[in-house]
Amino acid sequence: MISGPQLPFPANEPEWSFAPGTDAAKQLQQALARREIVDVPTVIGGKRLYSDDVLEVRAPHDHQRVVARIHRPNEAQVKEAIANARSVSRDWADLSLASRCAILHRAAEIIATRYRVDINAATMLGQSKTIEEAEPDSGCELIDFFRFNAYNAQKVHAEQPLSVPSAANRTDWRPLEGFVYAVSPFNFTAIGGNLSTAPAVMGNTVLWKPSDKSAWANYLCYEALEEAGLPAGVINFVPGEAEMTTRVAMASQELAGIHFTGSSAVFNSLWKQVAGNVEHYRSIPRLVGETGGKDFVLAHASANADAVSIALVRAAFGYQGQKCSAASRAYIPKSLWPEVSRQLRERLAELQVGDVADPKTFMGAVISEASHAKLTNAIAAAKADSGVELISGGRTWADPGYFVEPTVFRVQDPKHLLMQEELFGPVLAVYVYDDSAWDETLTLIDGTSRYALTGSIFSNERAALHQAEAVLNFAAGNLYLNDKPTGAMVGQQPFGGGRASGTNDKAGSFINLMRWSSPRVVKENYAPVRDWKFQL
Ligand code: NAD
Repeated sequence: MISGPQLPFPANEPEWSFAPGTDAAKQLQQALARREIVDVPTVIGGKRLYSDDVLEVRAPHDHQRVVARIHRPNEAQVKEAIANARSVSRDWADLSLASRCAILHRAAEIIATRYRVDINAATMLGQSKTIEEAEPDSGCELIDFFRFNAYNAQKVHAEQPLSVPSAANRTDWRPLEGFVYAVSPFNFTAIGGNLSTAPAVMGNTVLWKPSDKSAWANYLCYEALEEAGLPAGVINFVPGEAEMTTRVAMASQELAGIHFTGSSAVFNSLWKQVAGNVEHYRSIPRLVGETGGKDFVLAHASANADAVSIALVRAAFGYQGQKCSAASRAYIPKSLWPEVSRQLRERLAELQVGDVADPKTFMGAVISEASHAKLTNAIAAAKADSGVELISGGRTWADPGYFVEPTVFRVQDPKHLLMQEELFGPVLAVYVYDDSAWDETLTLIDGTSRYALTGSIFSNERAALHQAEAVLNFAAGNLYLNDKPTGAMVGQQPFGGGRASGTNDKAGSFINLMRWSSPRVVKENYAPVRDWKFQL
C-alpha cells in the first residue's frame, strides 16, 4: 500500500547547453583536462575496498592516457557483498516505499546539479562520448530513470484487488526473496543506474557489477545514491572480473534475479547457467535481459530523402554506432538511392572523428582494442568482397585512439552477414530494392536478422506505414515512424526488444518494476462463516 506523498508524472530532465563560451562548457573543459587518475573502489556494505588487483581504464580516444584504476574484489569479497546484501534486506524492505522513492529523487537532484559535469566528463573520458552523446545519457537519462522508477513504483503499489463489505483484499508488493545481480554494459552510464536501482526501489538488495569501461561514471552514480541516503549494503558496487563475479553470484542459493543489459551471447550464457542450476536456488530466479540489435531503417519510395539520410547519419554513427538501437541495416528504394547516397557521402565527409573534448567532434573512438580489431577485420573482409560496394569511409587507425571512420557499404545479397550480425560500431549496410518489391522487402526485413530491437519506417503514404507496421509486428520492440531508431526517452518510449534482443521488459517502465516483486495477496475476512453446511 502507498504511504507518503503521491508523486506527479515526472517531466524528462532538460538537457544543459554546453555550447562553447557557456559556464557549463568551461567547467566541462576543466574536468576533462584534470590529469589525476581516479581510484574506483569496490563498495561492500558501505565500506570502500582498495585492492592489489587493479585494472587500468584508458580513454579509448587516447589510449596512452590512464583515467581510472578499478580496485577489483576477490572471490571472498564478492561472497561478503552477497552476505551484506542479504543482511540488510529485511530493513530495506520494511522501509516505506515513500522513503525509498525519496532517496531516488534526492540522487536525481544531486546528479542534476553538483555531479552533472563530473559524471559527463567521466562518461566522455572512460567511454569516449562527445558531450552531445554524454549529456542525454549520464546527464538526463540517468536522472529520468530515478524519477520515473520512483513514480512507477508507486503506480505498481497502487494496483490493488477488489474488496467487498465482508472481506478486504490487498496486494503486498514484496521484493524477491534473495538478492538481485545487476550486470551493466559500457555504452550507457544511465543503464547501470537503472539496473541497480529498479530492483532496489521495489525493496530488493543488489549486487551491481558494472562494465569495466563505465565503472568510473557508474561509481559516481553510486556515490550520488549514497549521498542521497541509500543505506549501506542495499546496493553493493562490485566492479569485479566478469566471469569470477558471475560464478560466485550464480553459486549462491540466494540469487533471486538477474538484471542484465549487454550482448545476447553473454545473456544466453547466464540463462543457461541459471537453468543448469535451477534446483539449487531457493526461488526460481527472475531473468531480465536487454541485449543486442540489428536495427533497420526502411524507406518507402514516398519518403523524403533528406529525412532518411539525416536519420541514417545520426542513428548509424552517433556514439560510433555503439548503441543497441543504432541503425546498422538500411533498405532504400532504387528511386531514392542516388539522392540518399549522395547526401550520405557529402555529410559523412564533413563529419569529424577524434578527441571527444573537441566540441567539433561528432564521433570519438570505439570502446576497446578488441572492438577495433573486430571492426577493422569486418571492414577489410567487406572491401575484399565482390558483392559489396564501399560507399563511404572504410579507414581505421589505432593511434592515438581506436578510431573507425563512419563506413557505409552497399550489399547485393540482402542476407549478407553485414545485414544480419551486430558489429557494434560505425558500419552501416544498405540494400537497395526495386521500388516494385515493397511487399517482398517487408518480408525480407522480418526474416533477415535474429534480433528484434528497434526499427524505423520512413514514408509519406499512410497505407505504406500501416502495411509495414503490420508485417513487421515482431521485428522490433521499439518501432519508429518517420524518425530515427535511436534516442528512446524514459517515460515516452519504454525500451526493449524481442527475439534475440532480450526479454522485452521495457526499461524505465512499470513493466520492468513488476519483475522485481513477488506479490503476496492477503484476504482478511470480516465475517468468518459460522456453519459448515452450505445454505441452499
Ligand atoms: P557485454 O555483453 O560484453 O557486457 C555486458 C556486461 O556483462 C558487462 O558488465 C560485462 O563485464 C559482463 N560480462 C561480459 N562477459 C561476461 C561473462 N562471460 N559472464 C558474465 N558477465 C559478463 O556487452 P557490452 O559490450 O558492455 O555492451 C554492448 C552490448 O550491449 C551490445 O550487444 C548492445 O546491443 C547491448 N546493449 C543492449 C541494450 C538494450 O537495451 N537492448 C542497451 C545497451 C547495450
